[in-house]
Amino acid sequence: MDLRELILLKTAALFHDPPDKAWCLVRGEKHEKWAEELAHIALDGTPLSEAGEMLSDERVREADRLAASVDRVLLGELIGDKRGAFPEKSIKLKNPINPRIEHSIQVDLGKDKVEEVMRELNGVLKKTENVEEAYLALFGLYELIWIAKGLPSGPADTRIPTHTVFDHLYATATALNWTYEGGGLLLHIDIAGVQDFIAQSRRLRDLWASSYIISALLWSTVLNLIRYGPDVVLTPSCRFNPFFYCDLTNRVQAIGDYLKIIKIEGFEEILCERFSFPRFAVIPGSMTLVLPSFISDAEVLVEESFRRKWKEFCEGIMELDVPLSRDLEREMRYGFMEVPPFSMRISSVRVDTSKGGDNVYAKAFESLMNENRKKKLLKVNPACMLPLTEITREIFDGKGSLADSKRGFDYCTMCGKLPAIVRWDGRASDEFLEEGERLCPYCLMKRIFSRRPGPVLRRILGYGGDVKISYPSLADIATFEFKDGFLRDLPSLDKLWKDGKIRELMGRVLESQYEERVLAWKYQLRKFEEIGESSIDPDLKRGLLGFLLAESEVAILGKEKRKLWSELRRYLEEKGIVIPPIGMYYALIRADGDDMGSILSGEVGVIGIDVKDYIVSSFEGKSREVVLRIMDSDYEKLKDIAKEENLNEENLRKTKEFLNEIISSRKIPVSLSYHVSISRALIISALRDIKQIEDNNGIVIYAGGDDLLSIAPVSSAIRIIDGSRRGYSGLDGSGRFHKLGNYLIPSMGDAGRSYSLYITHYRYPLYAVVSDSSLKLEVAKGSVWVDGRERKKDSLIITYSARGSSESSILPLSLRDPGLSPVDLRFLDDLIGKIRSGDISVSLLYEASRGNFMETAERAWSMGKMEIFDKVIEYMIGRHIQRGERREDILREIMEYIKRYEGVRRRDRDGEEPFFLNLFKSCRLLYSGLRGD
Ligand SMILES: [Zn+2]
Repeated sequence: MDLRELILLKTAALFHDPPDKAWCLVRGEKHEKWAEELAHIALDGTPLSEAGEMLSDERVREADRLAASVDRVLLGELIGDKRGAFPEKSIKLKNPINPRIEHSIQVDLGKDKVEEVMRELNGVLKKTENVEEAYLALFGLYELIWIAKGLPSGPADTRIPTHTVFDHLYATATALNWTYEGGGLLLHIDIAGVQDFIAQSRRLRDLWASSYIISALLWSTVLNLIRYGPDVVLTPSCRFNPFFYCDLTNRVQAIGDYLKIIKIEGFEEILCERFSFPRFAVIPGSMTLVLPSFISDAEVLVEESFRRKWKEFCEGIMELDVPLSRDLEREMRYGFMEVPPFSMRISSVRVDTSKGGDNVYAKAFESLMNENRKKKLLKVNPACMLPLTEITREIFDGKGSLADSKRGFDYCTMCGKLPAIVRWDGRASDEFLEEGERLCPYCLMKRIFSRRPGPVLRRILGYGGDVKISYPSLADIATFEFKDGFLRDLPSLDKLWKDGKIRELMGRVLESQYEERVLAWKYQLRKFEEIGESSIDPDLKRGLLGFLLAESEVAILGKEKRKLWSELRRYLEEKGIVIPPIGMYYALIRADGDDMGSILSGEVGVIGIDVKDYIVSSFEGKSREVVLRIMDSDYEKLKDIAKEENLNEENLRKTKEFLNEIISSRKIPVSLSYHVSISRALIISALRDIKQIEDNNGIVIYAGGDDLLSIAPVSSAIRIIDGSRRGYSGLDGSGRFHKLGNYLIPSMGDAGRSYSLYITHYRYPLYAVVSDSSLKLEVAKGSVWVDGRERKKDSLIITYSARGSSESSILPLSLRDPGLSPVDLRFLDDLIGKIRSGDISVSLLYEASRGNFMETAERAWSMGKMEIFDKVIEYMIGRHIQRGERREDILREIMEYIKRYEGVRRRDRDGEEPFFLNLFKSCRLLYSGLRGD
């Protein structure tokens, strides 16, 4: 093998079609020559210049075929050597998961604009020093510059516009890993025990650290393979992936400065200067890799790399100038360095592309998933690899050195499973351990990492500065509304500062000192800047900043402080400044894409489109007509069609056979392009989630793959879930596509996503909250909704957990009529807003949960007597709305909402439950969480 040649061929793959191919087709121009011209503009004078001559290399052509989606294979079969048949002049984009979702592209694209992108790319690539560096930069910048210049995305083929040209180009580069030597390896790795490891957390920062350790460790495991090209990582996509971009700027210093000037909404967050490493855990616990055949023993290589990285991680922790690191060194024979806290499962399939055949990738993927499924059945707890018996026996022999205990040894207070090696020594100001804590080596490392991630990351990723991160606590999130309410009106506070009494009180509650740290909570950062830039009295300013950064458990919820705050709150209220009460509850939000396994396997039926419809909808114009005719005709008729359309009859017969095969298998054969598009949709949706959460004052714990985990103020939870769910399906973009300027990216379309919103007290054990919220998510996913048609999953479960007991309600997140319309969740916030403002009495929520009226309403509903139902509900609601001019409007709004979802019901073993019951219950649970104690 020749790495240089492989990379040059991959470069050629990225340029084999011009990004404006669709516009060339519309103008009736040959795009091949134009592709070559563009490649020369972009690559001449750079380390990749030779690739300009390789665009029509047989291995590139083969990669192009191998990457192709099923519709393109069908089209190829159909038209044979008549390559330009059925020209299509309109430019559209269709969603590759559900091609019925389409968007017409009405933007004109001049050739000069395209040349400009290539020239810019050329300028940057000239700064790189060798082929490897240049390819990394090209991979990361090509599409990025295109978007930044405000150019539109077009399809790879106007006749089957299911894939954007960039998705197609990147998929072709991935396919080249196999066509280079006629085969290779499809590899799936995933980490077992992720959920448990994450749940084993006591503080919010432990939760962040747990997720981050998994992301960083998995990424660092494959880092060495990325030097063959970032295209070897099929999922999660490297495109727009913060871990990839941080790696890129680290490996190719010259690119770093250039990336900083890229102006794309949301991209600035990808490279965060304050952090010097990715801010969020965005790498999911599983990955799929497409590797060239010359990487022999890839499974062993990955497994070894994983163990090595874990060891380096431990070393990184022990090298820190932290006294607790010495305790880890002392307990090395515990075996934690050799045994990671989670195990890695690796499945692989050898792929032979030299024999041809259209379904090579689909077949390989299917066997890969089968193998992975088998491996998942085998559950091993990594802790059984530890020499625990020996260690604990030593203690009773009087030789042990574990944390002292009357019982011989104590269990870790974080995981509750392993013997602790350190215990809290009674110092109140301990940076790492808190009162009563005893930690095992794994949980201790997690805790240390949460405070000082930088040097450890530098050890495993090769970059990361030693930043001291300030992470908020659960109490900070629970008291958010109060804190933010107090800090809202700075000019008024400044005025009141002159009032002796208030000034004295404020002096006693505000904190005069604070340490400058890197703030992980975006809300704190924004507020810190706002207060800092304000022109209020300097003493007040210092006090407010200290208060903003202080730990709420002490600064607000401490016994004495709480009394003082109540007093101050009363005074301020007299002066016209109303501040919400001190809350004790926070929200944990968890989400997970529905049916991901099926969607990835091509079983598009789960999202409500049958295979036949999928195929016909993939085509556009004349070719669509012909495909439909072939589908519906007998074999005898094919002769006539062939004659009329000037096609080869034998080709038509083969096409029909292939169609029949697909339709009877009830799933579409998946392709590299299909998976490239999905992993691309997921990374964009994860970035959108991050923005949604930060804009609404929450904390992102994990956003990657189709999963999400976040901690947020209760008051923001519904807005976050609503925005995130809409974002997943592209409902906030343009025609159900994600939108970056003029650039459209297919979303997850009609695929559903379920959410679990868990509202609980800040002192309730986090382990129980994380575990239970995950069980509740399964309940949401088990939901079946009926509104004429039956639909599964795509639900939100809201749980309010207080004093050891919990109560839940379930709402649907979408109706399918016939597309997908989101259920309007903001109504919940509106209703609660009206209760808090006094327009509606809170007793409505209690009356609407139980009692005579509700029973009558439910009976009328189940008998289908909707007139009676409407009357009862209207009367019941009306009773609780305050008199006044807005009364009629409020009542009408609520009734309209209830009527809109009147027919929606949830079906379970016990029968059917109407939507409206869950609606009021949801509001009551949310309200309980907001009210505080
Ligand atoms: Zn532990």
